[in-house]
Amino acid sequence: MEEEKQKLGKRITPRDAAQVPGSVADGLNRSERVASVSIGVKTFPNSADEQEHSGKSGHDLRVPVINMRGRALMPTTAKKARHLLKNGKAKIVGYAPFCIQLLYATGETIQKIVLGVDAGFKHIGWSVVSATGEILAGEMELRSDIKRLLEKRRQYRRLRRSQLWYRKPRFLNRGKEDWLAPSIEHKLQSHIKLIDRLKAILPIAEVVVEVASFDTQKMQKPEISGVEYQQGELQGYEVREYLLEKWQRKCAYCGKKDVPLEIEHIVPKSRGGSNSVSNLTISCHDCNQKKGNMTAAEFGSPQIQEKAKKTLKAAAFMNAIRWKLVNMLGCGYTYGYITKCNRIKRGLEKSHINDAFVIAGGDTQERSVTVQKGKQVRRQNRSLYKANLLKGGRRKRNTVKEVKGFRRFDKVLYGKVKCFIFGLRSSGYFNVKTIEGEKVSDSVSCKKLTFVERARGRIEEVKRAIPPRAEARGLLAHN
Ligand SMILES: [Zn+2]
Repeated sequence: MEEEKQKLGKRITPRDAAQVPGSVADGLNRSERVASVSIGVKTFPNSADEQEHSGKSGHDLRVPVINMRGRALMPTTAKKARHLLKNGKAKIVGYAPFCIQLLYATGETIQKIVLGVDAGFKHIGWSVVSATGEILAGEMELRSDIKRLLEKRRQYRRLRRSQLWYRKPRFLNRGKEDWLAPSIEHKLQSHIKLIDRLKAILPIAEVVVEVASFDTQKMQKPEISGVEYQQGELQGYEVREYLLEKWQRKCAYCGKKDVPLEIEHIVPKSRGGSNSVSNLTISCHDCNQKKGNMTAAEFGSPQIQEKAKKTLKAAAFMNAIRWKLVNMLGCGYTYGYITKCNRIKRGLEKSHINDAFVIAGGDTQERSVTVQKGKQVRRQNRSLYKANLLKGGRRKRNTVKEVKGFRRFDKVLYGKVKCFIFGLRSSGYFNVKTIEGEKVSDSVSCKKLTFVERARGRIEEVKRAIPPRAEARGLLAHN
């Protein structure tokens, strides 16, 4: 852990880049690895009662409150929520996040609350921030099996139909104009659902989504308009993001990935090379060192010179999705280079939740110590029979839907461990795992399990996140 921190902390700047001491531009070439919240989190009990007792100092869990008519009020503390529940003044309406509904009429004072969304292909990071603190934060892992499953279904369908009868070919029956592939549509809907779910329990005044890593309008043809590296702080970030995107986040010379990448001048500055984007590429530290004072052509990569002159084709696919999201919600938006700049200014590490916190305008507010970690899971498999026949041509029933009241991905209590049913068997002996997929038991009798919550397309758990600020890192080292 200690070593890792030092490695991350070490600044690596391009050999021939102008250095501004103390500037955030120092952070430009810092290596980027997403530290998922799954690293170093502990399982954390789900009821406000338990949470209060195990609480450390700091901004602990906030409990969303809705009034009698179902409108969201300002969230309360776990202590207050426990008190209300004990006195019969409120009831529990949800567990992930833990949420209560008041049973008496009350006035409402509402502060400005902003939801920041780090929209992504595999993960959604979100953070709800008020002027005084981060109220709730979380991360949702999206499904990535949809494309594969639909292709499989299509194959079966084709086979089935080819064996049956002749059908007139049908075509041009896809009316929708703004059609998206089902896997992409699902990602878009997942973002919308998550935002709606949070809006229902928190009085969110504003939603901000990060739409792209850089402003494509402003960055149009920078190779021709001559945008330069190091003009200003934000400019530097934007150029770097642009270059990373253009060179696919790998070293242009050796193709190495997942190493700290540096901005590199194709024709060195010492030999009259400019700072303009058409003279910049991305390389690993070793290649940058080895290339030294040579041009790319002299270093044995003449094609790089050619590629650098071309502009980046229409920005990534995901950007289109994010824009669609913004248009559908009519919400605010920001750019990745701004997020990155602010995140580094505030000394936060790269994670989906930290990004969301910064997107929401988070600055010096106290961070939430707990994190809502979610993962989407598939619902029921609807095919009736297994595709492969048994010996003798018998067809085998596909899956069991329910055994003794348990379903797949139900949250259950095994002893004191909260876990999820990953393997449901008709024998009544199940495979249970934690949300991260760590094995709890391969085969446990359902008699030893206590039902907690149905999955409903996603599984969720409250986790204690390691405080992300720099001061907290010192504490970590002693563990
Ligand atoms: Zn390299």
